[in-house]
Order: sequence, then structure tokens, then C-alpha cells
Amino acid sequence: MCCSLRVRWTITPKTAPQPWIACGGCGGLRAFQSSGKIRLNANGRKLDAWLIYKCLACDKTWNRPLFERQNVRDIDPETLEALQSNDIKWIRMESFNLDALRRKSQRIDEFPEFEIAREVMRESADWTRLEIELLVPLPSGMRLDRLLATELKVSRTRLQTLHGKGLLRTNPARADVLRRRIRTGIEVMIDLAAVADRELSWGPLATGSPR
Ligand SMILES: [Zn+2]
Repeated sequence: MCCSLRVRWTITPKTAPQPWIACGGCGGLRAFQSSGKIRLNANGRKLDAWLIYKCLACDKTWNRPLFERQNVRDIDPETLEALQSNDIKWIRMESFNLDALRRKSQRIDEFPEFEIAREVMRESADWTRLEIELLVPLPSGMRLDRLLATELKVSRTRLQTLHGKGLLRTNPARADVLRRRIRTGIEVMIDLAAVADRELSWGPLATGSPR
């Protein structure tokens, strides 16, 4: 496409969600934090695997089941390898498994802090359109409007106005896209032809490189 600045934002939350569990150590419901460690128990061909959590108040552990009495042959080899080698990346991914956490806990704390890496994919001279593609490798509770408002330093109202006028579009397109959680594959296109400070303000914020 002519005349666009296209960037890719990779958004990674800093802190894994924390489920609230009845603590056997200090009593009462407490927030538990992933320890980043796996416990395995093999019994013949059957395997149990847990992700170990710790009570934030007293360090008592809680084991979240990943597999229970699963036949080793039914576990895909990559997962098995990750479990056996305590693969940090795999464990981190699993610690963000909100669906699994929701099955075990009524209350889960999520944290808004995240890191964002910005790459310029294309920059035409005299660009008038900003395109942002999102890469969200770990599930994030962040809403799209909050992300854009924070990173581009514009109000959510202004984003809504731009969306309403068709100057901010997304792919896939949805009426409520701004209020929904960010995820990989979302593209945001903002027509800034009428915005004078696009190269001074919007561009550097989108690319992360002041000029
Ligand atoms: Zn406790």
C-alpha cells in the first residue's frame, strides 16, 4: 500500500495471572503465584504433571494439574520434552493459561503491565496512514483502546471518534473491536492524512524511535 507507515508491535505481559485459592498454610483465600516449576510423577505409562504455585502470604505450594494419569503415548512429544526439561518458555506460556486457571479458581488477578517491542515493517516517504499489526504471544487482558491510547498518547474518546468516522479501521473489523482484548493478528489502520503532527508525534510513538 502506498503512503503508509507499517509497524509490528509485540506485546508481552510482565506478570502471569494469579489465581486465588484456599490456602492450606495460612488459611483463607490467597493469591498464588506461579513458581515457574513443574512437578512430574510417572507411574508406569501414566504421567501426572503439575505447575507449582506458591501462596504470596506464606509460600505454601499449590499444584495446578496439567495432566492427570495421562498415557505418555497420548502426550505430544514436544509437550513431553518441555515437561521433562522444565522448559522455561513452555512453563511461562502455561502460566498464562487463563482457561485452565478459571477451571480452578473463581478469582484471578491479571496485571496490566506489559512490554512492547516495536518493529518498522515499511515506511513510505510522506506516509499518511499508520498501520499497526499486533503480535500477542501470551494471552493478555489488555483492551485494544487502552493499548492504543497509552502507546499513541491519545484519548480513548478520540480513538472512538476516529473509529466512528471510519478513519480508524481494523482487520478483522468489528463494531466493538476497541473494547475487546488484544490478540495476535489484529491490524489497526489509522488514516492520519488530516492530522498535521503525524510525523512528529504519531510516527515516533508508533515506531518507538524519536526523531
Ligand atoms: Zn498461605
